Amino acid sequence: MSKRDYYEVLGVPRHASQEEIKRAYRRLARQYHPDVSDAPDAEERFKEINEAYAVLSDPEKRARYDRFGHQGVEGIGGAGGVAPDITDLFDLFADLLGGGFGRSSRRPRPRKGRNIQVSVTLTFEEAVFGAAKTIEFTRPAVCPRCGGTGVEPGTRPQVCPTCQGRGEVRRQVQTFFGPMVQVSTCPTCRGQGTVVTTPCTQCRGAGLVQETVRKVVDIPPGVDNGYRVRIAGEGEPGAYGGPPGDLYIQVRVKPHRYFRRQGNDILLHLTINVAQAALGAEVEVPTVDGPAMLRIPPGTQSGDVLVLPGKGVPDRRGRRGDQKVYIHVEIPRRLTDEQRALFRKLAESLGTEVKPQGRSFWERLRDWFSQ
Ligand SMILES: [Zn+2]
Ligand SMILES: [Zn+2]
Repeated sequence: MSKRDYYEVLGVPRHASQEEIKRAYRRLARQYHPDVSDAPDAEERFKEINEAYAVLSDPEKRARYDRFGHQGVEGIGGAGGVAPDITDLFDLFADLLGGGFGRSSRRPRPRKGRNIQVSVTLTFEEAVFGAAKTIEFTRPAVCPRCGGTGVEPGTRPQVCPTCQGRGEVRRQVQTFFGPMVQVSTCPTCRGQGTVVTTPCTQCRGAGLVQETVRKVVDIPPGVDNGYRVRIAGEGEPGAYGGPPGDLYIQVRVKPHRYFRRQGNDILLHLTINVAQAALGAEVEVPTVDGPAMLRIPPGTQSGDVLVLPGKGVPDRRGRRGDQKVYIHVEIPRRLTDEQRALFRKLAESLGTEVKPQGRSFWERLRDWFSQ
């Protein structure tokens, strides 16, 4: 197999500057690094790219290559013989692998505390009008004895025996360029450089204790099942100087004996008798504001919906929906002798004529759905 031209390998012109060569190399190495790339020839390409870079990044070797081609740099180029600038490669690997090589991130990054979710159960009326509810939950808090350090007061953390306080460990790894030193965060002290040999007796070295928190929370009017109230900063404490998490209060609403919600309207099903339906009536009905008078007009039919305006659930601006009363006309199942006599009289008065329904119930239903 004949060797490809190094400039071609890196995809740069022959007069490319050192900076252009470096940029091209970084881009390609990132693309073909065997740890990153899925390409079947990634390993071959990666070697080829490194070899090309080793020569073209060195002005002296590059000049020889320009004059004599591959032969001019033989023994320097070629597998195993390449010795690119090592510090530069450390930089590159740090870039590629997110700081795993060459550099180390000694201190863990600040991390926001976790959120806490608590649920609160409201009555139907509390959900409509809002309520102040006391919630209780446990949450980790900074240990009062050690102030979160996890160290028993009066004692000091010891220098980490694994890393001797450096917070990082070095390990030789084999790479295409021969052995390299990999630097990573010390697993014993997690980069802190110290270990606690006398842990705090209250938190057992965790730095945190569970505390019980009682809070009065204002639930706004108009909430429904699934609504969440967020209270910023009341979650678990952050780590390494990060901010605390948030508290979420999940609202549950107990079902009501009579009322159902439909958006901001409240539905009530009401059964009336035939006389009330035929003659009309004033009846007292429950509302979330207490009993209210509902006027049933004469001739009310089963399925009619009567509206009590403004007796529903408030929206964000405080405007309230309606209460909708669904009417069911009940036909008496049992009659006293007197009632039977009255119905007979009514029957005589109404006559025996019956009207076939113009359209069936199902047809009307279909119309309704296709509106
Ligand atoms: Zn403690
Ligand atoms: Zn250590």
